[in-house]
Amino acid sequence: MVVVLLLQHVKHIALLAQWLNQPTPGKVPRGSGLWDQLFALLYRYERVKTREHQQLAKTLVRFRQAGRAHPDGVVILDAENRIDWCNDTAEHHFDLSLDSDGGQPIANLLRQPEFISYIEGADFSSPLELRAARTSAIILSVQIIPYGDSQKLLLSRDVTRLEKLESMRRDFVANVSHELRTPLTVLSGFLETIRELELDPQRSRDYINLMAEQSKRMQRIVDDLLTLSTLESAPSPSLDERIRMAPLLARLRADAAALSGGKHRIVFDAAGDFDLLGSENEIVSALGNLVSNAIRYTPDGGEVRINWRASAAEAEFAVEDSGIGFAPEHIPRLTERFYRVDRGRSRATGGTGLGLAIVKHVLNRHQAALEIQSEPGKGSRFAVCFPARRLVAAAATETAAQDKS
Ligand code: ADP
Repeated sequence: MVVVLLLQHVKHIALLAQWLNQPTPGKVPRGSGLWDQLFALLYRYERVKTREHQQLAKTLVRFRQAGRAHPDGVVILDAENRIDWCNDTAEHHFDLSLDSDGGQPIANLLRQPEFISYIEGADFSSPLELRAARTSAIILSVQIIPYGDSQKLLLSRDVTRLEKLESMRRDFVANVSHELRTPLTVLSGFLETIRELELDPQRSRDYINLMAEQSKRMQRIVDDLLTLSTLESAPSPSLDERIRMAPLLARLRADAAALSGGKHRIVFDAAGDFDLLGSENEIVSALGNLVSNAIRYTPDGGEVRINWRASAAEAEFAVEDSGIGFAPEHIPRLTERFYRVDRGRSRATGGTGLGLAIVKHVLNRHQAALEIQSEPGKGSRFAVCFPARRLVAAAATETAAQDKS
């Protein structure tokens, strides 16, 4: 009897040892007598633990999903700065792969000296700006956040666009200061001369005229800057306002003649009885800028052609001149603020270097496109293409007026 009992205990102990060796959930051995109660307790304990384990695994999955969805790069580093986990954005930013680089020290993969001294230092209070490792076109802002037991969170954000905007802002401020400083220097020079020297009335008048010219130049720059800033902040012009093209074209033609003062042959041609929808002031200023450029950059005796072609599908306003022209490589930069091909000529004719920037803004706001062609010494063609949604058939009375002009 004792032997049987002993054998039974040995059998149950063997079963228990076998399960403990490989504790498969739901496979707790069954027994009899006292052992059955013991196994039942073990079974219950194992089930609670399994449920807790599943819950934990689910929570972990949810956290990883949240980390993955985060728009910034997230890398979890252990106490030795080895990669524990990272999201897809971090893989892209640092050109790494969790599968092959997981467990590697981050300093082996991100070797920039400034990053190494950042991660090895103790001050993580501000982020570090960094060019992404192998894709140097991306500028990253990285920050380390220590947490838990010597672990670290490495966050990375793509700040390329912000950086570009910031450098554009810096250039713009430098350009404006430079553009205003030149006439200001001339102005204060003349003022000084008038104050210090005994000048005859004629010379004084000449100086005052030159000063007036410089102050007008400053005025034009400030006016154009204000126009640009209004264009940038105002909402796009609505489709409610009709711009009567017949009188507008007649006005542009008259302005061209006045600007030229009879020194150019001006050819005008309009076809298609369609009006534009948008802001009249803006369109007058944009098209007027193109006409005035054509006159200003065409030597006396040259030709300027103003063309308007409109149909229900699209309309084109083009200004063609036989002027000084420019090499095609300037075309992409021509609408940048203060960009000039011929600085001397621009100044001499009262240019601010902001005209085409205003044109570009106005056209963007009317969903219109600007097409530029030019050849040095031969002339240029600036064409504006308006889409169908900005066009409306002209009323009969205006059509008649256009025919007469
Ligand atoms: P600006 O006030 O200097 O004329 P714009 O922004 O109107 O400034 O034009 C930018 C530059 O583009 C000019 O400085 C000039 O070099 C060039 N440009 C514009 N229109 C013409 C043209 N019709 N012919 C030759 N060059 C032109």
